Amino acid sequence: MPKRPMDDARIGKVEPALRPILRRLHEIMAGTDDGQSRLDKIVRLVSGLMVAEVSSIYLKRQDGTLELFATEGLNPGAVHNTFMKRGEGLVGRCAELKLPVNEPEAQQHPAFSYRPETGEEVYHSFLAVPILRSGETVGVLTVQNKTPREYTEEDVEALQTTAMVLAEHLGSGAVAGAGSLNSSINTTGTVIRGQPISEGIALGHTVLHEPRVALTELIAKDPAAEAVRLDAALTELKAALDEMIEQGELAKEGEHRDVLEAYRMFANDRGWQRRLSEAVESGLTAEAAVEQVQNRTRSRMLRQADPFWRERLRDLDDLSDRLLRVLAGAKEGANTRLELPNDTILVARTMGAADLLDYDRTKLKGLIIEDGSGQSHVAIVARALGIAAVGQVRGIVERIERGSAVIIDADTGELYLKPTPEVIAAYADKARFRARRQHKYRALRDKPAVTVDGETIHLHLNAGLQVDLAHLEEAGADGIGLFRTELQFMIAASFPRLDRQTAVYRAAILEARGKPIVFRTLDIGGDKVLPYLHHAPEVNPALGWRGIRMSLDRRALLRTQVRALIRAAGTDQLRIMIPMISTIEEIKIVREIIDRELEIVKKRDGQGPSRFFYGIMIEVPALLFQLDEVMPLVDFVSIGSNDLMQYFFAADRENPRVADRFDPLSAAFLRVLAAIVDAARRHNVDVTLCGEIGGKPLDAIALIGLGFRSLSMAPASIGPMKAMILSLDAGRAREHVASLVARGHPAIRDELRRFAENAGVEI
Ligand code: PEP
Ligand code: MG
Repeated sequence: MPKRPMDDARIGKVEPALRPILRRLHEIMAGTDDGQSRLDKIVRLVSGLMVAEVSSIYLKRQDGTLELFATEGLNPGAVHNTFMKRGEGLVGRCAELKLPVNEPEAQQHPAFSYRPETGEEVYHSFLAVPILRSGETVGVLTVQNKTPREYTEEDVEALQTTAMVLAEHLGSGAVAGAGSLNSSINTTGTVIRGQPISEGIALGHTVLHEPRVALTELIAKDPAAEAVRLDAALTELKAALDEMIEQGELAKEGEHRDVLEAYRMFANDRGWQRRLSEAVESGLTAEAAVEQVQNRTRSRMLRQADPFWRERLRDLDDLSDRLLRVLAGAKEGANTRLELPNDTILVARTMGAADLLDYDRTKLKGLIIEDGSGQSHVAIVARALGIAAVGQVRGIVERIERGSAVIIDADTGELYLKPTPEVIAAYADKARFRARRQHKYRALRDKPAVTVDGETIHLHLNAGLQVDLAHLEEAGADGIGLFRTELQFMIAASFPRLDRQTAVYRAAILEARGKPIVFRTLDIGGDKVLPYLHHAPEVNPALGWRGIRMSLDRRALLRTQVRALIRAAGTDQLRIMIPMISTIEEIKIVREIIDRELEIVKKRDGQGPSRFFYGIMIEVPALLFQLDEVMPLVDFVSIGSNDLMQYFFAADRENPRVADRFDPLSAAFLRVLAAIVDAARRHNVDVTLCGEIGGKPLDAIALIGLGFRSLSMAPASIGPMKAMILSLDAGRAREHVASLVARGHPAIRDELRRFAENAGVEI
């Protein structure tokens, strides 16, 4: 079991020593002074209460530099004249890491950056904490002392609490000139690039996702009443989550469902609730308690480099924001109350899956996130809901003007801020074209993929998440040619047990309604990691402990998976495929394991799958030289051309410098594919291909020419592939490809493109 993040955070009570600081801060903020005078008073207060010779506040400007805004102890002339670039010095480091920096000998730290104008050379010890608002650094608060000392946990806590109060007031516009807050720049016609995380094109107007409710009261006037408020808010929060998760299209099984379940588990985490109660008992308002617990947990979780923890952190932020909204009296799902434009493009720094669901689906067209990878939970839900989304767009929240026009091209990952009329016209066209194309592909849905000379090509889907299965019908595919079971494992918080796995596989079989599914056993390793499975770092992970190599070393896992697949199949047919096979021995051992499990089930239930098909992936070149020994051992083979290419050309598929350097449409690689097809034919074994090239119409002309009659691809490729096949003469393709390969032609791709153009083949 992985440790749960909230258990990691030992959250103590607010020290009594903190109370006078909070009270005094509150008075300063409630006063009538201007912003600068307030900051001056705060640094004076902090240095007095923390017995520090220096206390300073740096605030972030629009360009990301940190400006000294107030100081007690440093040279007053340095205020507004000292700047630290992004990541520069210990102050910059604290801002970047979003973590306290505690250095007894600051000047000896390699990151120290000396600023003569401040006169700070006499100070040895240094403590800085980030001023965080909605998870983003808006400034840094520091103290310094002449004597070398390491500041205590209590000191760090006192400074963090002060920074928390400061952040709220900065956010309310208390200080003029603090650039990063609510700023925008002239962005007309700007193009920004991010990562596509949910495909589609969207034209619309931006709405900033502002999950945060500003804190006004920090010190509880009546702690008992605060405890009651907190309890009531937690109850309301949980009930609202239940309702949200159980309703509509989201109630269906699917990986988005797993994501939401994990989130719900978080909301019910006892540790979190206990720490909130403790913070309230110590004298904070319920809102301040939420903020404090969040900040402390966050700084611990941020130390974890693993994406798994970052995802959990997003859940925590989302949950805290949600609880603050409930406390503020907003109806849960406060975002639904916003007056949204009909073509809303949501812009967020970070976002949890549940947060997205608060918005009115009918108005939401697109999503732009500063972080957010394709594997992030919000991306998974965006895909399930069909919302175009682009992630990894650094600094977008600061660059974008609220309510302004924006275009998302989630095919290329490009964003057009305040697009010019020409770009809008071009994209409106592109969107219309897409719609027309989709319409055309839908019309092809029920047509079999038969070439003009009558050859039927079976088109299968690559899937792995339950949402993908819906595409089976939608795209008119013949079955699932590759079910990547590891994806289910990758989004789970811990190893899915037998029952859970069985349920997932069964649901997939039911959803396929009799169409065949090829389940591939766990293909972990290389670029695919499970956060809960210990995996020692490897110098060459692609050549390391991955696929069946790992499964054979963890036989219990393999047996559990096989057992789950057999149970899920019931009396239906079952197809199991093994990844990363390198030797004949491996094929035999795995077969024995499966046969034993089949035997057990048969003995126990008196029956098992009506038919069992055993297959392997051809991804490792070693198999190419023993095809005649391989084929008699299997019912089918599927070529994993992504891996076969990388091993064949010794070119890492993850390394952009070399990944595309070698062309699969080269005589050398096509000869390899031809040899596999021929061997499969000789032994009467089914052969298919499920790598990326199987979904590219031009490449597929070569594959069909070589003799492939079955291909497996991403759902979006089925339509274009059918259109190509319906216009292709397979006989002519065979002659053309054979002659190019026999001659060792150096530019087969160009030749095939010309062939398609001349013959009117749609590519
Ligand atoms: C392949 O290697 O081509 C393949 C389909 O498997 P994966 O991309 O999952 O490694
Ligand atoms: Mg592979």
